[in-house]
Amino acid sequence: MDEPDWKKLQRRDDAGMKCPKCGSTNYREARQCPKYNDVPVCINCCKNCEYYSADPVARTCRFYIVNPQKDYQRELEKIENKINTKEQKVDYFYRDNKPMIAQRIEGELTWLYEERRKLKEKLIQQKGDKKNGVYVTRKRNVKV
Ligand SMILES: [Zn+2]
Repeated sequence: MDEPDWKKLQRRDDAGMKCPKCGSTNYREARQCPKYNDVPVCINCCKNCEYYSADPVARTCRFYIVNPQKDYQRELEKIENKINTKEQKVDYFYRDNKPMIAQRIEGELTWLYEERRKLKEKLIQQKGDKKNGVYVTRKRNVKV
């Protein structure tokens, strides 16, 4: 996949002075834009965006309302529970002298460990994305 435009722009103009959308450097206000990985866009581009809301009570950017972030923490908890259950079963079947069944479950566990690893990576990524953003919708104690 080609490098997205905002990334090239971010590298070329690391001071963040240039709007990644229109290229303007002549603006008085900028807003972090989730569409450009939280690089600030000029206020004109922000206002022209389909996610912009002029409602003074609502949040200005509707991006994360339209594109809710996946709850990876919740998914991770579910997978942890499955892993615990299966590990107990493996123990049980080995002790019960049924290694064939135990090994089959171990095969499922291998897949689950891989899923858990991927989820943890996504969580770390998501945490990083949110750290510099202003669009954090809720707080969670994310343990990775
Ligand atoms: Zn702009």
